Amino acid sequence: MIYDDLGVPRIINAYGTNTRLSGGLMAPEVLAAMAEAARATVEMHHLQAAASREIAKATGAEAGIVTSGASAAVLLGAAACMARLDPGAMNRLPDTRGMPDEFITTRSQRNMYDRALRVAGGRIVEIGIPDRVSGPGVRDAAPWEIADAITDRTAAIYYLAGTNSEPPLPDVMRVARERHIPVLVDAAAQLPPAENLRRFIAEGADLVCFSGGKALGGPQSSGILAGRRDLVSSALAQMLDLDMPEADFIAPAEFAPLAQMRGLPHHGIGRSCKIGKEELIGLIVALQRFIAQNPEHRSALWQARLEAVLAAARHPANLHFIPDGAKPGLPTLEWRLPDAATARAADARLRAHRPAIHLDAGRIGQGVLAINPIAFDDSDAALLGAAIKECLA
Ligand SMILES: *Cc1c(COP(=O)(O)O)cnc(C)c1O
Repeated sequence: MIYDDLGVPRIINAYGTNTRLSGGLMAPEVLAAMAEAARATVEMHHLQAAASREIAKATGAEAGIVTSGASAAVLLGAAACMARLDPGAMNRLPDTRGMPDEFITTRSQRNMYDRALRVAGGRIVEIGIPDRVSGPGVRDAAPWEIADAITDRTAAIYYLAGTNSEPPLPDVMRVARERHIPVLVDAAAQLPPAENLRRFIAEGADLVCFSGGKALGGPQSSGILAGRRDLVSSALAQMLDLDMPEADFIAPAEFAPLAQMRGLPHHGIGRSCKIGKEELIGLIVALQRFIAQNPEHRSALWQARLEAVLAAARHPANLHFIPDGAKPGLPTLEWRLPDAATARAADARLRAHRPAIHLDAGRIGQGVLAINPIAFDDSDAALLGAAIKECLA
C-alpha cells in the first residue's frame, strides 16, 4: 500500500472525519469516477454548471458550486456578500473600500472557522450576551439585537448551524428579510441527518456551506456553496481562472447573473479555494450516492459496523450504544471509563497500538471515549474490538 511505501503509519480512525486524521474513506464508485475524470479535460465553468444542477437538485437551492472545502465556501460566500456582481470590488478584496464588509453574528456562534470571513476582508460584529452558556442566566442573543446591529456597512449575517444555535434560523431570517440582508450559514458538519441538505435553504438561507469530506463521503478537500443564483455566481467568479479575453467568456445559464457584469475580475480572492476536476467529480458522485441511499439503510450499515466492534470486544458492560450519538441518524458506541485519567490512559494505549487506533476523545475529561463508525471500514471492526478488549483486560 502507498502509505507503507512512503513509511507513513496507517491508523484506524474511529474518531470521525477529522481533518487531522485525514478524514474518512471514499466509496469505490467515487474513486472510479475521479480516475475517469483525470483522463480527460474540460472547461471548469462548464463543469461547475453541471455541479450547480446536481447541487440544486440535492439542496433545493437555485445554484451551487464545488469548492475546496466548507471553509473555502465560507470565504467565497463572504466575498460574494461583499463584492456582489461588481468586478472592481472583486479585484480589490480583501481591501473592502467602498463595500459593506460587516458580518453580524451572535457571540455564542463564534468559532475558529469564522476567520474565513476575515480572510476575505470581512469584519465580524458580535451581538448578544450568551449567559445561558456562561451560566448566570438563561438568555442568548435575540432577533431584535441582530436588527439593531444592521447598518449600511452590513454585508451579511453569519450563522453557525448547530443543535444549540440561537436564535433559531427562521427567526434570524425574518429580521434579515425585513432589512434585505443576506444570511450565510455554515452547516459544514450538519450531515447526517440527510434532511439538513435541504433544511437551511428551505428556512430561507441565502447561502449554505457543507463539507464534502465529512459524512458526504467525498474528497477531504471538497465542499459545497449553495444558495441564491446571484451570490453563488459572484462566488464562482471569484474562484474561477478568468484570465482570458473577456468577450470569450459566455456565462452558463446556471450562472446567468455573470452576464450582467461590466467586466471580469482577474484571479480573485478565492483563487486558493479552487477545486480540481477530479475532486469536483468525486464530490458530485458522493453527493448523488448520499441522496440515493435511504438514511435508515445508511444508519443500519453504521450500526452493524459498531455491532461487530462490540462483539469482538466481547460486550463489556461499560461499552454501549447511543442510537443517535453525535448526530441524529449516526449510531455511536460510548465507552464509559471510571474517570478522566483512566480514559486518557486507555486512549494513549490505543494510539500506541499498531495500527494506531483513534477514538473520539471529545468527552475524555468526563471519562468517556466514543467510537464513530463513519471513517473506518468493516474490515477493521474486529481489530478495533479486540484492541479494546485487550485494553480492558
Ligand atoms: C469542519 C468544519 C469546517 C471546515 O470544513 P472543511 O470542509 O474542512 O473546510 C467549517 N466549519 C465548521 C462548523 C466545521 O465543522
